[in-house]
Amino acid sequence: MTNKIPFLVLLLISITAFSQTKKIKALVGGTLIDGYGAEPIDNSVILVEGEKIKAVGTITTLEIPDHAEIISTEGMTVLPGLWDMHVHTMINGHADYAYWDKTYPPLLKDVIMPSSAEQLLMAGVTSARDLGAPLEESIAVRDAINNGDIPGATLYVSGPFIQKKPYPGTEDFRWGVNGPEDARKKIKKLVSAGVDVVKLIDQDKMSMEELSAIVDEAHKNELKVVAHGHRPDEIRRGLMVGADCFEHTGLSSAPRYPDDIMGMIRERTADMSSGPLYWCPTVEGLYNYEYTRDNPEVLDNDSWHRGLPDSVVTDIKNSIKHPDRLPYFQLTPVRKPTLKTKIQQLLDAGVVLMIGTDSGIPMKFHSQSTWNELDVWVNEFGIDPMYAIRAATYWPSLWMGVSDEVGTVTPGKYADIIAVKGDVLRYISLLQDVDIVIKHGKQYK
Ligand SMILES: [Zn+2]
Repeated sequence: MTNKIPFLVLLLISITAFSQTKKIKALVGGTLIDGYGAEPIDNSVILVEGEKIKAVGTITTLEIPDHAEIISTEGMTVLPGLWDMHVHTMINGHADYAYWDKTYPPLLKDVIMPSSAEQLLMAGVTSARDLGAPLEESIAVRDAINNGDIPGATLYVSGPFIQKKPYPGTEDFRWGVNGPEDARKKIKKLVSAGVDVVKLIDQDKMSMEELSAIVDEAHKNELKVVAHGHRPDEIRRGLMVGADCFEHTGLSSAPRYPDDIMGMIRERTADMSSGPLYWCPTVEGLYNYEYTRDNPEVLDNDSWHRGLPDSVVTDIKNSIKHPDRLPYFQLTPVRKPTLKTKIQQLLDAGVVLMIGTDSGIPMKFHSQSTWNELDVWVNEFGIDPMYAIRAATYWPSLWMGVSDEVGTVTPGKYADIIAVKGDVLRYISLLQDVDIVIKHGKQYK
């Protein structure tokens, strides 16, 4: 008898485990945008087995197994989990970076970064590129999410920014380079720690030898390089050395990209062998500043409190009590009118834009940023909603080199799927409140 009990327990455990991995979910009825850009599929059926998508069809073409768990998506738009290609999980809307960097490093790994990742996930963002944070913490949080220890968006992390010189007090998450040898050494250190991408900023302050060493060493190790595009020479030099993606529209309040830069961009987009030229314009923080300043009620949406201790929430609230006084945004009203022109220049030159937000900057919360970026693209800049959705699904997965696994709703890929009531192609801002979030087959919302 005593021998049999452990055996029975073991049997039960393995039966439970077996039935869980084999369990099929059926998402039934909604209109599916699969991420490839074709016409949406009405009355769709998606079968999810374990972590993966097993089949995609419609209620007339695809049989739903008897034992499947039915999740109704009637009246909803169903789409791939969103990507945000530019987030900062180490910050969360606080207005004073110097204070934050002094105060919160001990909480980054166990509180701040996990909270950011979970807020993203609950907003329907199932994958995110995290561009600039301390190395050990970045890897630990990414891995904890991947191992299923904590809930959160799948993160692709850069670890520390690579730049000419860290600003005082930021040495933990900004690494300086001193000569090409040192540059290679720093990249090798990132490679052996297992980062997913390299984040480059202030590259106009480096020597060309340093800059080339960084990109060459990264590419040799199959890491792509994301480059800041704030100043004209950051863009020029980034293009010269073959940076793989640019961030921000940049050029401050200057009205448009100068002709020589546009010439370089067109030269680059014409070179098919290098693949598309990618760019995350990260416009919504700038575009919505004046609205937020004059309608601060949006800051009281408590979705950004999730996972944060009350003391931190209070601290953040106090720092943004006077949105009109934040130094970060004083020039923003002058920059705002230039954004549409710059985006249009990039589109006209054949650049592939991706959704990225700079989420975490003052007053920009991980629970809200991504849908706001989509909303500004579509409703303010007139970008086709299908283009915007692909910029937050298909293209990011391709850029990250994981398009075989995620990014579209396709049999064989991980089931990263969201659904929201209503027609997202008609009203993109419905994405501010997604009804269903599934990541790797597990329903989180
Ligand atoms: Zn950023």
